[in-house]
Amino acid sequence: MYQQGTSICMEASSTDNKPEFEKTSYQQLLIADLKKEIEMARKLDSEKLASEIQKIGFSCQHCGKCCRRAFGDNRVAVIPSEIERIREYTDLSKLEVAGPFVTEDSIPDGEEESEEERPETSFGALEENEESFSPDRLESFKDYIDCEGKVHAFGWILRRKRNGDCIFLERDTYKCRIYPVRPMLCSTYPFYIEELKLQTCECEGLGSPISIEESRKMTENLLFRYISELEDTLDLYENFVDFRRGEQGLKLAKKSLENGTFTFIVHDSKGSTEISG
Ligand code: SF4
Repeated sequence: MYQQGTSICMEASSTDNKPEFEKTSYQQLLIADLKKEIEMARKLDSEKLASEIQKIGFSCQHCGKCCRRAFGDNRVAVIPSEIERIREYTDLSKLEVAGPFVTEDSIPDGEEESEEERPETSFGALEENEESFSPDRLESFKDYIDCEGKVHAFGWILRRKRNGDCIFLERDTYKCRIYPVRPMLCSTYPFYIEELKLQTCECEGLGSPISIEESRKMTENLLFRYISELEDTLDLYENFVDFRRGEQGLKLAKKSLENGTFTFIVHDSKGSTEISG
């Protein structure tokens, strides 16, 4: 399910205490490209997009496969405004709703556990969730580790259970427990727009008839999502200041992982959040 925009390897600081570093020419180029894409996205022909969607066809089969790890990459990238909406709806904390987005899918095959052993929970007592981070995996994040051994991540994904399924997926019915406030990625699935072009993900519902009214509604949601995500990324780029890397960073990160004092710094359009432990 996962789709995400350009990955960046610039560096960030909290917006509360932002040092005034000059952006490099590469960073300035990224920002200029993004502004251009936003401008062009606003001019996309919605009627043409709606007719493309109608031609492709789609009807949700309610199989829940897009929310389950066993059927592929089910990560759901979310922006701060989406986390906030879900947080208000569920009364969960920000960190119970979402975790750091890391560049690879972190649930290896074979880690699924027996569902029968785990009772369904309410929002107030969510099932323990996912994303174990082993010292071996740290090697592949070398470029994202600063000289103090903290791992920098860009953006958020919805939390998942230990078996990798979305924490908001109802176990027996495959219904979404946050349907009215589900992320834009979920409400527009299996469609997305990339570099101004309509794209689709793998989905059993593709090819089924869809009315022009439903196609127009999907187009409206898709364009809203595309522009919101681009604008959010632009804010992230503009707030972003480089962090210092160093030889000892990886070693310190491994040590802190072993001691249970591991720290992530998550950068988003609102600044940065430090998550320890
Ligand atoms: S939020 Fe809802 S629709 Fe989205 S992945 Fe989770 S269960 Fe599925």
